[in-house]
Amino acid sequence: MRGIEQLDTVLKHQALSTEHRQIADKVLQQERLSRDEGLFLFEHGDLAYTGALANAVRERKNGENTYFNRNFHIEPTNLCVYDCKFCSYSRLIKQRNDPNSWAFSMAEMMDIVRRYDGQPVTEVHIVGGVLPQYDLAFYQEFFQQIKAHRPDLHVKALTPVEYHYIFKKAKISYTEGMRLMKEAGLDSMPGGGAEIFDPEIREQIAADKCTAEQWLDIHRIWHELGGRSNATMLYGHIEQFKHRVDHLDQLRALQDQTGGFQTFIPLKFRNQDNQMSHLPENTAVEDLRNYAISRIYLDNFDHIKAYWPMIGRTLAQMSLAFGVDDIDGTIDDTTKIYSMAGAEEQNPALSTPQLVDLIRKVGRRPIERDTLYNILQDYTDVEFEEDKQWRGYYELPVVQQ
Ligand code: SF4
Repeated sequence: MRGIEQLDTVLKHQALSTEHRQIADKVLQQERLSRDEGLFLFEHGDLAYTGALANAVRERKNGENTYFNRNFHIEPTNLCVYDCKFCSYSRLIKQRNDPNSWAFSMAEMMDIVRRYDGQPVTEVHIVGGVLPQYDLAFYQEFFQQIKAHRPDLHVKALTPVEYHYIFKKAKISYTEGMRLMKEAGLDSMPGGGAEIFDPEIREQIAADKCTAEQWLDIHRIWHELGGRSNATMLYGHIEQFKHRVDHLDQLRALQDQTGGFQTFIPLKFRNQDNQMSHLPENTAVEDLRNYAISRIYLDNFDHIKAYWPMIGRTLAQMSLAFGVDDIDGTIDDTTKIYSMAGAEEQNPALSTPQLVDLIRKVGRRPIERDTLYNILQDYTDVEFEEDKQWRGYYELPVVQQ
């Protein structure tokens, strides 16, 4: 496997310090890294070193497999009772007449679901702002309507930020609330709203919404009900490396208890049109190092995902050599969360051949999965119409004399 060979080359490097060697040995022996070692990686692990370690872990866990799915998003509203400083997407309720705000009715959202009738999508991803009218009864009804219309469509919906608000308003416990959501048709939970768990940083960037403990608690309860979910971390703003390690550590600890997380998705802070626009964005090298260290540290997570609408398809492609084994889905231009924050992908949509091509071009194996990582199709040897038309050269106009 390339990963192990690459790691061998790195280990032969004369200039490697004792600490670097000890950490590499632990990774090779499949031993867990401590918090201090995680911090050491962030502070002293260069791109080549962390990348080689992460690639070895990635290939041990997933080989060359690189996963994607066919999905679309529904963002019910971008009006929100909260005012997170990093958010470029939301508008406060008093801005409801802003031309860039929206609040879909149930009928409008079901129209979006029907737009995909007959298309081979497997998942609808639902997240948005938090508003009082999108309450328990509303989402129960919405999930039920989706399931009545298309029972096979996987409903991956809402984060603990929304659930905490909805259940508090309904005066029910998290356990009762998640049970009702499950009954209504919720299949799994996306990873958003985690931001950064450290209370002081969280207070500065996302005051008022659910705390780290509440976020973790709702995931724990959902896992105990048999559900699966994802986890995220918003990085590259005012947090320090020690806060990232703390965040990863808390996720790893919950995963030890429940095993319910499927994938970890680092979310990059983007600085357009939000209250933290004065902060510079992370460089691509820092993004790749962050993927790599996440892969190394989260030894009990099966998958690390690069969300391509956030970092663009080029960096997503590069991330596949730095621990990432999943690049999300086709999306079909149905999310505005990152395009409104200044991401390169202003109309994010990729066809299946485009996604497959992106993965093949870096020598990985493109695998279409469902939300729960069941393999639907291995595209390694699939030939698309587009491939047949490609003849390996461009015809140039020939001037006849
Ligand atoms: S990040 Fe979410 S909770 Fe915070 S303001 Fe934006 S939409 Fe609302």
